[in-house]
This record gives sequence, structure tokens and C-alpha cells, in this order.
Amino acid sequence: MNERDSETIAGLLDEMGFCEGSEADTADIAIINTCSVRENADNRFFGALGRLKKAKEARPDFIVGVCGCMMQQQHVVDKLKEKYPWVDLVFGTHNLHELPKLLSSVISEKRKRIEVLEESCGTVEGLPAKRLHAFKAFVNIMFGCDNFCTYCIVPYTRGRERSRQPENIISEVRSLAESGVKEVTLLGQNVNSYRGAEKIGFTELIYMLNEIDGIERIRFTTSHPKDLSDGLIDAFSECGKLCGHIHLPVQSGSSRILERMNRKYTKDDYLELSEKLRRSRRGISITTDIIVGFPGETEEDFEETLDVVRKVEFDSAFTFLYSIRRGTPAEKYEGQVPEETKHERFGRLICLLNGISAKKNKAYEGCTEKVLVEGRSKTNKDVYAGRTDSFKLVNFISGADYTGEITDVLITGSKTFSLFGEKTT
Ligand code: SAH
Ligand code: SF4
Repeated sequence: MNERDSETIAGLLDEMGFCEGSEADTADIAIINTCSVRENADNRFFGALGRLKKAKEARPDFIVGVCGCMMQQQHVVDKLKEKYPWVDLVFGTHNLHELPKLLSSVISEKRKRIEVLEESCGTVEGLPAKRLHAFKAFVNIMFGCDNFCTYCIVPYTRGRERSRQPENIISEVRSLAESGVKEVTLLGQNVNSYRGAEKIGFTELIYMLNEIDGIERIRFTTSHPKDLSDGLIDAFSECGKLCGHIHLPVQSGSSRILERMNRKYTKDDYLELSEKLRRSRRGISITTDIIVGFPGETEEDFEETLDVVRKVEFDSAFTFLYSIRRGTPAEKYEGQVPEETKHERFGRLICLLNGISAKKNKAYEGCTEKVLVEGRSKTNKDVYAGRTDSFKLVNFISGADYTGEITDVLITGSKTFSLFGEKTT
């Protein structure tokens, strides 16, 4: 979602007449869009900001702006005021659309602006975007989150859940299709709680988008297990353009920990969902997010997570060491797990996951897969990269350039995180 927001920022700057530069030493403006979901993201932001200081000292007219989730937290804004007083512009997730107005006032009045709103005033339509890719696009369908998982900062930084009107989404996807986009990824913190109109929930929206000519693939991220309806599971077998991949964050395999996380499903619920998904679509790939070392996680709890990994056989997973987020309920939970224990469990989890990923990828060898070709390798001009319907990355050899097309590729080899192949004739 941050990447999608950055596309909007680039679009707004483009409309103001700015063009993209590559380095701080020559740029007129730098804007850092931040994520605050984990501590590591916070630290990287302050590192990146610190690196701009020299350029700002050398050229006081160089404008430095910061925005995004981190700015929605008062302690971050306070730190910026105190330690980074040279930052010119601070804005949050709720007033991104006001960038042109804010930036113009920084430029014309030569004064600093800090403007962060506590809550959003709905959804804003019609913003420009400078999209990163020509053939695939992210499309926001809803914003915010009302789930309040006890470890998570997102409901505080992104505000209450709000859905875009279906007609606005449809017209955006239509115009993307007209401009050559073949694959759309629908975005939301919890897409399956999308409610665009009384009778239009997420499943209905997928069926509507399935009718749009030119769009060949539909993906979505992220869906919450507690809201994964049978209707949506059926869509995997009935809806021709819906890709055979679901990212379904499990977070933990222990029902006790899941309850402390406020996830509202149990280990068995999750296992049942994964079985239904596998029955609905042959070869569906299931990927997940897992947090290691949530407060109170015992060795037994962690073993339950390993058990879920073994049973579901995830194609891949994003794995995170639990990090305390200020202001969330889990910040105050007893039983914070020592760093050493977290790292030790993390290592075991990765080892198990990687073995399964490698095995899953090996099963593709000898198969012919439909690949949306994203472009040519930077290092070898005969090698192209793309994604299968199941979201596997494929590097393949081809005599001709099929960039932007969905084409058949014979899979000839595999690694833990990617496949290798040859263009079939
Ligand atoms: N809305 C999505 C996830 C958004 S955050 C969902 O509910 O699935 C992306 C991932 O970051 C989460 O799935 C979780 O695994 C991880 N995460 C969030 N807060 C975290 C924290 N405090 N420490 C470690 N990982 C965290
Ligand atoms: Fe965070 Fe939970 Fe909302 Fe996902 S569903 S954004 S993990 S609070």
C-alpha cells in the first residue's frame, strides 16, 4: 500500500511539473514515504533521512519532505521537530492528496509545514499516479483497518476502515486495461471486509472485475482468515481471471497466542480454510505472514506454528521477529520473549519454510506455465523474468522479447525462491 501511495506522490509531483531525479545532490525535492509496521522500518527511515542532511546543508533550498504511517504517531513528529529541525514538510496518510498545496506553500512562503490529520475524511478519488509498471497495477479498494490485532500499529496510522465505491474501482480498472495493464492486484489491509455498497462485498467485486475486457489476471492482498468466506473460496474455482494464489497471514499456529493477538480464529479454523482452498483450486499457492516471539510465546506455542507450516506447506512466507509498537495493547503484555530466543526460533522456522518452498518449486519442473513477462534481466539479455499464475518468479531464456505478454514457459529448474525455464515455441 505504501508503494501504491508513492505512485500517487510521484503522480502529484509530475502534475506540478517536477521530473524524477536519481540523487539527493542534484534534486530540488526529496520525499520519504514511511512505513511503521515494524521497528526495522522506523530505523531505516531515520537512516535514510540522516543521509539527506549533507545535501540540505550544502543547498538550503533543497526541500525535504516526509510522510506516511510514521508521521501519524506524535512521538515521531516530536522527534523530527527536536532532532531534524531542517525537515521542511511533514504530512500523514490522511492528507497525502494535499501535497501540491503544502509543497507550494513551502516553496513560496519559504516556511516549514507540519500537517498531520488524526482521522481521514473518507476516500479521495481521481488522484494522478505515476505507476511503476506498465502491465500490472495496484488498485486500492479499501483503506484503514478495524481489526486491532494487539501487536499492530496499522489501525492507528491508517485509521478506520473505508471502502471505495465499486463504480470508481471499475472505472479505474477499465482505464488501466485500456492503457495495456493485464494484471491488477486489489489492495487493502483486509480486502475481504470490503463493502462498497449494500450488496457489493469483496466476492461480488471480484466477479464484476472479472468481466472487464483486457484484464487477464486478478490478484488481491491481504485477506484475513477470519473473513475468508466460502463464496470467496468458490471464486477460486469459478472466476477465470482470479489467480491461483492467496496470501493468507496466519501469524501463529498456537490458538492461545492467536487469541492474545486478537486474530479471532484458531489453528484448526486456519487448517480447515487451507484445505478448502486446496479443494477449490488445484495447485493453488498459499503464502503467509508469521510473527515469531509474540509476548508469552512458549516453546510449545512455537511448535504449533511449525506444525501449521508442515501441514499447510506454505509456498513461501514473510517471517517477522515480533517488535514492540508504541501504543498497541501488546506493548504492555507480560512475557516479552528474549531476543536470543526469538532469533533461535526464527532460524528453525526459516529452515523448515525454505525446505518446503524448495520442494514446492521442484514440483513445477517439467510443467509448462503461463507467465506474465515483466522484462529482461539487467545482467543477461537473453533472460527474462515474469510471474506464474501462482505468483512464482520465473527467470527464463527466450530468443524473442515477450515483455507485457502472458506466454507459455517450460520450467526446467528450480531454486528455493524462483523457477528457471525456457520459452516454448
Ligand atoms: N493487514 C495485513 C497485514 C499488514 S502488516 C494482515 O492482517 O494480514 C504486515 C505484517 O507485518 C503482518 O501480517 C504481521 O505479520 C507483521 N507485523 C505487524 N505488526 C508487527 C509487529 N509489531 N511485529 C512484528 N511483525 C508485525
Ligand atoms: Fe494490522 Fe491486524 Fe489490521 Fe492486519 S488485520 S493491518 S495485522 S490490525
